Amino acid sequence: MDKNIVVAIDGYSSCGKSTLAKALAKKLHFVYVDSGAMYRAVTLYFLRNNIDITNEKQVEEALKAIHLNFHSRDYQTHITLNDEEVSEEIRQMPVSEKVSDISTIKMVRKEMVKQQQRMGVSKNIVMDGRDIGTTVFPHAEVKIFMTADPKIRAVRRFKELEAKGETITLEEIFDNLAHRDYQDTTRKESPLVRAKDAIVLDNTTISKQQQLEFVLERVQPFLKTATSNHKYS
Ligand code: C5P
Repeated sequence: MDKNIVVAIDGYSSCGKSTLAKALAKKLHFVYVDSGAMYRAVTLYFLRNNIDITNEKQVEEALKAIHLNFHSRDYQTHITLNDEEVSEEIRQMPVSEKVSDISTIKMVRKEMVKQQQRMGVSKNIVMDGRDIGTTVFPHAEVKIFMTADPKIRAVRRFKELEAKGETITLEEIFDNLAHRDYQDTTRKESPLVRAKDAIVLDNTTISKQQQLEFVLERVQPFLKTATSNHKYS
C-alpha cells in the first residue's frame, strides 16, 4: 500500500515558511496546512471572548466551543472559526501580539496537535509551524527547519503589511518577531527546536525558486519509493 508523504516545515516567525510550503504543495499536488493559522484563530476567539488564560475551566470550555475549518482556494489558506471566515483578521496585530502567549497553553497545544495529526492520516501533506517535525509528525519523511536574518524577516513582514494598508512601524514588527521567537523557543510545551533529522534552510539571501528546488530535491526520493507512479510537473 502507498504510504502518505509528510513534509514538515518549521522555523522562526516570518521566515517565509508558508510561501515555501504553499509553492511545494502546489507543485506536488499535496494538501497544505498552515498550523499557525489554527493558533491564530484560537487566539482571536480568546480575545473576542475575554478568556482568562489562567483559568483552566474557561480555556477548556473555549476549546470545546471552537470549530476550525480550512478551505483551500488555489493554495491560499482560508480558515473559518465557527463558520466565520477569519483569514484576514487573524493576520492583524492584535492577534499577532497575543498568539505566542496563547500557544504556550498545554491544553491548546494538545487540541491543535490532535487536529493536525488527523489531517495527515490519509493525505500527502505539507504542514508548516513550530513543532511539526518534533511533535505533530515526528516521523515525517522530510523535515525542513527555516531560518533567516531577523532584520530581513522584519522588512519582509513590514512590506507585506504595508501593502495591505496596515499602519505599523518596522520597529514594532521587529519587536513582535523577537517576542514571538523568544516565546516560541523558550516555552515548556513543545518549544521551537530543530528536529535532529531536520535540514536547515537559511533563506536570507536565496530566492523563492531556489528554496523550492532545495526542498523538491529532498522530497523526490520519497515520491519514487512511496508512490511509485507519482509525478509532478
Ligand atoms: O506561523 P505563524 O507565525 O502564523 O504562527 C503564529 C504563532 O503561532 C507563532 O508565533 C507560534 O507562537 C504559534 N505556533 C505554534 N506552533 C505551531 C504554529 C504556530 O506555537 N505549530
